[in-house]
Amino acid sequence: MTIKLYDENAYDTSFSAKVISCKKAEKGDLFDVILDRTLFFPEEGGQTPDKGTISEGDMVGSVLDVQIKEDVIHHFVDISFQEGAKVSGTIDFGHRYSNMQQHTGEHIFSGIVNSKKGYDNVGFHLSDSVVTMDYSGPLSDDELSEIELLVNRAIYENREVTARYPDKDELEKLPYRSKKELTGAIRIVTVEGYDVCACCAPHVKRTGEIGILKVISAQNYKGGTRVSILCGERALKFLKSEHDLLNGTALKLSTSWDNIPAVIKKQQDEIANLKSALAESSGKLLEIELEKIPEDKQNVHIFAEENTDPNVIRRVVNTAVAKKNGYCSIFWGNDAEGYKFIIGIKEGNCNDLLAGMREHFEVRGGGKPQMVQGSVNCTRGELEEFYERV
Ligand SMILES: [Zn+2]
Repeated sequence: MTIKLYDENAYDTSFSAKVISCKKAEKGDLFDVILDRTLFFPEEGGQTPDKGTISEGDMVGSVLDVQIKEDVIHHFVDISFQEGAKVSGTIDFGHRYSNMQQHTGEHIFSGIVNSKKGYDNVGFHLSDSVVTMDYSGPLSDDELSEIELLVNRAIYENREVTARYPDKDELEKLPYRSKKELTGAIRIVTVEGYDVCACCAPHVKRTGEIGILKVISAQNYKGGTRVSILCGERALKFLKSEHDLLNGTALKLSTSWDNIPAVIKKQQDEIANLKSALAESSGKLLEIELEKIPEDKQNVHIFAEENTDPNVIRRVVNTAVAKKNGYCSIFWGNDAEGYKFIIGIKEGNCNDLLAGMREHFEVRGGGKPQMVQGSVNCTRGELEEFYERV
């Protein structure tokens, strides 16, 4: 059983220890190093492990993973050590401290969710980029905002956070949250006034050290709610990136950031108006093309501008069908990528024309006898040639 130095000394950054064993790890080129004692917190309870180094004299190995099995902590290191060697270890305290902030923030959040709504925290994940908690019931946006505010107030109150191992009798009487059925010595972490929870991880000493807690997102998850949060500098970095994005957008739109929604709405309206004006004009252009076709010609085909709205094309095909007795076809596209089409006929079957086209070209699409639509893989010249024979 490895002595867990982080249990009592969450703020220590370096330690000395003796190598109990060092074996080639089963996977990869790493060595599985077991020490008599360690500051490295292993991957446990949804939290990713500490990072850092273990060294012996000038030999410095990077600790790339830390796992716990039956109370023995395994350090996965990129160099090997002799059994019995005296080594020193250093943890990446920036990484560790951030995890302590996120984790303590999670305790307060879960404690408040539990006291306000009675929900359990049924899942927890703390990686370098994300902190998620799963709760056993629904939380509305208003409830999440309120809980976020209460957590931040608990942070300003700078409450004490303690960890201890109560004896069996006391544990039986103690109401505490727990993510799973625990065995062995149970470590109880208390955030004064907010939460009592069984937990093995390092936490900050006072809630003020969390700095800030921000809810990033929430979604329905397995009948409950999955909430993502960030604390401390991670929250600050996130808010800064959002703020930079907002300011950059405001600059692009030549407005102030609080006016961005209004400017976007105005632009969307303008685009919608332009689109409908464009549709009107392109419809008129097609109708002029239609007028140019000699009265006695019954099969007509027109090439429209590449980006013409298909609704406009359908309307003009219907206008043509009302006037002519043959196939009325409109194509739009280009020689490189092929052409789209809508073809209509008053009496007859457009699929017959498609069958003819298929003898020469690759054609996709179809439809009812009176109107078909699709695409054809050929050039405008080839289509013109085909139509001369229709
Ligand atoms: Zn904890």
